[in-house]
Amino acid sequence: MTDLQIAKKVILKPITEIAEKFGINPELIEMYGKHKAKIPISCIDKTKADLSNLILVSATSPTPAGEGKTTISIGLSEALNRLSKKTTVVLREPSLGPVFGIKGGATGGGYAQVLPLEDINLHFTGDFSAIEKANNLLAAIIDNNIQSKTNSLGIDPRTVTWKRVFDVNDRALRKIIVGLGGTNSGVPRETGFDITAASEIMAILCISKDLSDLKKRIGNIFIGYTFSNQPIYAKDLKVAGAMAALLQHAIKPNLVQTIEGNPAIIHGGPFANIAQGTNSVIGTLMGMTFSDYTVTEAGFGCDLGAEKFLDIKCQSTDISPKAVVLTTTIRALKYHGGADLKSLTITNLEALEKGLPNLEKHIENIQQFGLTPIIAINKFESDSIKEIQLIKDFAKTKNISVAVADVWAKGGEGAIELAKKVIEVVESNKTNFEPLYKWEDTIESKIETISQKIYGADHVEYTSNAKRQLKRIKNLGLDQLAICVAKTEKSLSDNPKLLGRPRNFTITVREIEIASGAGFLIPITGDIMRMPGLPAHPASEGIDISDSGEITGLF
Ligand code: ADP
Ligand code: MG
Repeated sequence: MTDLQIAKKVILKPITEIAEKFGINPELIEMYGKHKAKIPISCIDKTKADLSNLILVSATSPTPAGEGKTTISIGLSEALNRLSKKTTVVLREPSLGPVFGIKGGATGGGYAQVLPLEDINLHFTGDFSAIEKANNLLAAIIDNNIQSKTNSLGIDPRTVTWKRVFDVNDRALRKIIVGLGGTNSGVPRETGFDITAASEIMAILCISKDLSDLKKRIGNIFIGYTFSNQPIYAKDLKVAGAMAALLQHAIKPNLVQTIEGNPAIIHGGPFANIAQGTNSVIGTLMGMTFSDYTVTEAGFGCDLGAEKFLDIKCQSTDISPKAVVLTTTIRALKYHGGADLKSLTITNLEALEKGLPNLEKHIENIQQFGLTPIIAINKFESDSIKEIQLIKDFAKTKNISVAVADVWAKGGEGAIELAKKVIEVVESNKTNFEPLYKWEDTIESKIETISQKIYGADHVEYTSNAKRQLKRIKNLGLDQLAICVAKTEKSLSDNPKLLGRPRNFTITVREIEIASGAGFLIPITGDIMRMPGLPAHPASEGIDISDSGEITGLF
């Protein structure tokens, strides 16, 4: 059965019933139809949230299909609920880029899903659209100011870094020229589009604590320089209020349900290679306010999502996980051991063994933060008993808990062993969380710490362009921001071809973007796409809607 067929068999509970189970008076929620609702931010209680056990789900370096963090997060939270721990899974909202591209949606898979699948994957409650509008309003205001004779800030159009966004993989928009058509149509300048999930507005929405924080951060967005080399921020254009107003509903977390009828919060969707890669702080705190256990996912592998979760989100919000679930798959480890992408369903102990150093490095990375990893082997039908045993034996030599999770085939029942091991780690109170770096450190030292300790690099090199930008950032006084590295997820290094556990390599910083609203600097390493392209046969070819309104082909 496909994910969608499984999803359609579930009789959804009214969202008011889920709200009640979550612990919120159903009168308080804002209904978006029968099965979706928004929860007012005022329901967050940080004191209560601090008592919740936060569980971070991360993964080893993935294959292009994803290794199942979302699926495991959902299945684990079902299992914890089965074990009478009141648990909420808190996740990101899917971007339409992957939905219509290669990867598909982001609502889990098999018997571990959040529902309604079709709605969550297609527009949901409109948060992405609101983010797109707020982002593009700022772009319009910038171009309008460049055009204006009476309200001019003297912005040098060649220095404007702010781009427009659109939530579809549309490579034709990567580089464009706006303002063509003569004096009435603006000043021609080169710019481009990013995907909405890569927008700084998305990053801001996901790191903000409340509306006033959101508005302040929007005002702090750096957009470029004047002809006399003065920095211009969004607040100089008097647009932060209007942008925040557009986000009035988008800032509230969305409540939906899992297949087993447990609450799920889905809010915000920044990518992990170019932004912080985790759902909103508000969503996490909402989940934590009402649950004993809060399970959340950070995008891609530990080197990206988990590092950013721990160094950026945890430091800025003053929260920390009690345990980290390290999702791995036999297919990903075989791939990192040199097996061909097409051969991953064939038993290959040799390749699996060669791929184990990738798992080892991710384990070490979690331990560097003072946290305890629990390995979850996300079970695929093609996995052989011998392959599973090989990983178990390896975990034993490292003294790490390991459980096979078969949530895709069995839902919560498939993660009971994993859930018990998570509870064991949480109750043993072994965590001693320490972020990797302090925000006050110099930019170079922060980047070096991440590169050496997490990626395993020897050193960091800067292009002359990056060095120039470093100097400018220091002159602007923005050197104490957090670091959000833009890096490929395919390798621990910045070179997608270096698989397994690369050693003796250099990280090259090509440029450094300023995301002063979100509160971080983005060193760009390798070739990072902020506007992905579609494959020759995009997933959209298989998606349809019948005359009676039934959607097919989503996964
Ligand atoms: P991630 O969150 O790590 O990117 P997802 O949980 O979204 O990964 O899973 C990626 C894709 O793989 C989804 O389409 C999901 O249905 C599928 N998938 C995940 N786990 C399994 C499994 N054990 N067996 C088969 N398919 C799976
Ligand atoms: Mg995911």
